[in-house]
Amino acid sequence: MSTSQPFDITAELEHARRAVRAAALVTRAVQQNLVQAVTLEKSDKSPVTVADFASQAVVAGTLARAGSAVRAMVGEEDAGDLRGDEGSKRRAQVVQHTRGVLGEDLSEENVLSFIDFGGHQPALDAEGRASGTYWTLDPIDGTKGFLRSEQYAIALALIHDGQVVLGALGCPRLPVGDDSGDEGVLMLAARGLGAFSEPLFRDGERRAIRVSSVQDPSQARFCESVEAGHSDQDQSVQIAQLLGITAPGLRMDSQAKYAGLSRGDASIYLRLPTRKDYREKIWDHAAGLIVVEEAGGRVTDVRGAALDFGRGGTLAVNSGVIATNGPIHDAVLAAVAKVLG
Ligand code: AMP
Ligand code: MG
Repeated sequence: MSTSQPFDITAELEHARRAVRAAALVTRAVQQNLVQAVTLEKSDKSPVTVADFASQAVVAGTLARAGSAVRAMVGEEDAGDLRGDEGSKRRAQVVQHTRGVLGEDLSEENVLSFIDFGGHQPALDAEGRASGTYWTLDPIDGTKGFLRSEQYAIALALIHDGQVVLGALGCPRLPVGDDSGDEGVLMLAARGLGAFSEPLFRDGERRAIRVSSVQDPSQARFCESVEAGHSDQDQSVQIAQLLGITAPGLRMDSQAKYAGLSRGDASIYLRLPTRKDYREKIWDHAAGLIVVEEAGGRVTDVRGAALDFGRGGTLAVNSGVIATNGPIHDAVLAAVAKVLG
């Protein structure tokens, strides 16, 4: 499959916007059922899987119907588990949820083929580099937050020859950021065109967003994962101390951290490796990175290197992530270097 189609960035941003808005309806419906179903064990991961698959189907189906020129997607989910007799019960639930958003006329095979659209694997050249144009999707980023009825995100981004060129980051549980107090915000960004936010679940004003203007690291608020296995929380305390930060860290699941940073809710996002061999996935960072960069911030790995999205499905040559509002980035990197040694 050729992946180097020409594309119109503003048209694709609009397709991404529609796709993420549609997917958020599915994930919200499943999350609300989670809360209502009192009999359901919190440890039962099956509803989340249904929501993951349905969200991926809705994003892919919406992009296809909108006429997106980009015909490849690196998605987190794989429809393999849904085929055959073993997957029949779950498949029926996924199809039902997908039909609820995309329409009752969809066949089971339509739904499975939408999910399969996310199965693109970028080819690597002899130097381990990938080129071409493809979407990357995390249909539910922050699964643990989703299960706790806390923060999660639907993260869709477009990668062109190793660069993130646009992103749509839907955060169903994050406040809109206006006077309404409503939850559900969508961050949109395209390279060179800025970053914007709008309500995710209703019509409303689209506003340009900007990172915080903090210049003194000691006045910065930092955020990190809720899950201690995803980012070293002892090291983040030491880094904060070195920077003179007294405010406690904001713990949040998913790329909602990038969303918060992009509008100044926090000024630092620390993702400190807990394992040497872990490689960050492109769908966990692509949408968040472009939203923060276009809002004026900076994103690197823990050593200060740019995140390299041209290595296939993972950030194979990077370790961890440090994102800030920009002016304090070098000071944060210096503190990170001291603590990580
Ligand atoms: P967060 O909600 O920010 O903690 O990030 C959720 C993401 O962490 C998931 O989508 C996983 O892909 C990713 N993840 C899983 N294991 C690790 C790990 N050991 N280190 C960093 N990220 C991880
Ligand atoms: Mg994820």
